[in-house]
Amino acid sequence: MLMVMTSSGMRSIFIVVSMTLITLKESMACSLPYVGREIWDAKPAKDVQTFPGPIPFVIIHHSYIPAACNTGKECSKAMQVMQEMHQQERGWNDIGYSFAVGGDGRVYEGRGFNVIGAHAPRYNNKSVGICMIGDWRFDLPSEKMIDAVQSLIEYGVRNNIIASNYTLIGHRQTRPTECPGDRLFEEIKTWPHFVDMWDVVDPNTIAT
Ligand SMILES: [Zn+2]
Repeated sequence: MLMVMTSSGMRSIFIVVSMTLITLKESMACSLPYVGREIWDAKPAKDVQTFPGPIPFVIIHHSYIPAACNTGKECSKAMQVMQEMHQQERGWNDIGYSFAVGGDGRVYEGRGFNVIGAHAPRYNNKSVGICMIGDWRFDLPSEKMIDAVQSLIEYGVRNNIIASNYTLIGHRQTRPTECPGDRLFEEIKTWPHFVDMWDVVDPNTIAT
């Protein structure tokens, strides 16, 4: 009898917690289509280190590999593949990016806001790293992918997580890389807050 009551009590607590999480997710979902880590079945981060906001930089990437994904199932798989590559092969704490955007037009949670990333040396503790899943050297991401990135940035600014005077750049402006792909890079030059600044350093010569 005691076990039954305990079990029932625990179930009640579980339901309350679940509903609170759903409420939070729904409040975020009002402004952008969002896929939390538990939805894409993320592995736990090995370590989480935070930095204070508001965040001054937004840095745009492409994944190159994995290729563009079109459904929730494909994009969740792409997230898992990237996390596995970053955690296992590169030995990082977690998937390198703060967020990724899929061809399904949804924002996938990576490390999240205000967590030190592994996507742009010297900028990991002062930026939001957004990966547009796919190879964007020759092709442009779909309008709904671009809209999702803009919605994410707007969400951050509206909630004072991203600085209202943020600077938007591409990965190649911080280190030698073709990322985020020539075609996408031409595109982001037209986005609000893009700054034609070049602060390129060979990451092999610096500590982070
Ligand atoms: Zn990149």
